[in-house]
Amino acid sequence: MSTHTRYKIHRFQGGVHPPEEKLTSQLKTEIMPIPEKVYIPLSQHIGAPAAPVVKEGDTVFVGTVLAEAGGFVSTPVHASISGTVEGIALYPHPAGRPMSAVVIKGDGEDRWDDQIAPRSDTDSLEGAEIREIIKNAGIVGMGGAAFPTHVKLSPPKEKPIDTLIINGAECEPYLTADHRLMLESPEKVIGGVRFIARALGVTRILVGVEKNKMDAVQALTDAAGSDIIVIPFQVRYPQGAEKQLIKASVNRVVPAGGLPMDVGVVVQNVGTAAAVYDAVTGGVPLVSRIMTVTGPGIGTPKNIRARIGTPLSEVLDFCGGIVPDVRKVIMGGPMMGNAQFDLSVPVIKGTSGLLLLTESTAQILRTGPCLRCGNCVRVCPMGLTPLMFARFAELGMFDEAAESNVADCIECGCCAYECPAHIPLVQYAKYAKAEIQNRKRKAAG
Ligand code: SF4
Ligand code: SF4
Repeated sequence: MSTHTRYKIHRFQGGVHPPEEKLTSQLKTEIMPIPEKVYIPLSQHIGAPAAPVVKEGDTVFVGTVLAEAGGFVSTPVHASISGTVEGIALYPHPAGRPMSAVVIKGDGEDRWDDQIAPRSDTDSLEGAEIREIIKNAGIVGMGGAAFPTHVKLSPPKEKPIDTLIINGAECEPYLTADHRLMLESPEKVIGGVRFIARALGVTRILVGVEKNKMDAVQALTDAAGSDIIVIPFQVRYPQGAEKQLIKASVNRVVPAGGLPMDVGVVVQNVGTAAAVYDAVTGGVPLVSRIMTVTGPGIGTPKNIRARIGTPLSEVLDFCGGIVPDVRKVIMGGPMMGNAQFDLSVPVIKGTSGLLLLTESTAQILRTGPCLRCGNCVRVCPMGLTPLMFARFAELGMFDEAAESNVADCIECGCCAYECPAHIPLVQYAKYAKAEIQNRKRKAAG
């Protein structure tokens, strides 16, 4: 039995309490039918796009490699259905602009690649072998960040890691995919956690879950041994953000501009742990994922497992279709998700959910002048002054925006959520960050 009840929890600064709206928390994950066609982007992760190794007319099976990693910070992508490659073409992407995707016309048979086979020798696998399996399986951070997992598990020697923190907080309102995964497959999550710990060579393992999911806390606690501590955290957004989770779990502060490895920590999501388990024990690459489809704009909210590359329109049809007055479709949660304007875009590895808001719930609010109320500063979990860099960004003063540490913004949305003037503070932060990066690139030639 793990010892979570005696664990000392620390508090992170700022944060907000949006209404939880976890409408689907009690709904079992449904397996979505295999789509007739999938559109698998070569870029589904942070880093270089994958480089295609198939061509039009090739026969592929579930798990066949379609594209190899395009560099160290990159991952391969795999076929999620069996069938024939129709081509590689620009196709709508959740990022908002067309990107290259491999289009597969399915044969309806769901035949798996014969390279995929269970492993019997998992106890003897070394850390480097586990990292290689994770890399070849195309696994990325499943919480939405989509950073290649093998890279996170390969810190440089001068950054020794002593703690692995597993993120089961799922602090975004509405989303329940991680909750269902922890409830329905706790052994898989814990099994994956052990492989990740072995890959890192660490023995201190903490799993953080918000207290609004005590059934998941219990399920993981039952599945874990005494060496894994499952911690129930206060419900406070953004509890699941890496730096906030580290502060709350081990009372360490990641320095400005730094990474968790700077304080000896690696953070992975519960979904990533389950994907690692499937890859290591079953040889299964990342070809499907659990996601939540929810909100007042969908006919039948659900948690589903969908194949990567499934068009959103098919996902929505499977969930009872959209209601007539849908105003906004968001990929991810309401705080950090991205609005989608084309329902042909596909499910990708980082798609944690789809939120559909109606005319009355989408809150398209008129922006007013800053009231100098200070709310944005009070709730910012990174200790920033959003009103300042929003103003700098508005005026094109990007050096000043950089000096106000906009680069440390984690885009959590707390400031915008609390701003009575409805100023799009996160958009200003994203704009300033992108502009600063562009200028750095140009200056570097
Ligand atoms: S400035 Fe960035 S980190 Fe701070 S509250 Fe706003 S979005 Fe979150
Ligand atoms: S919360 Fe909005 S209105 Fe208040 S200080 Fe910040 S930007 Fe200005």
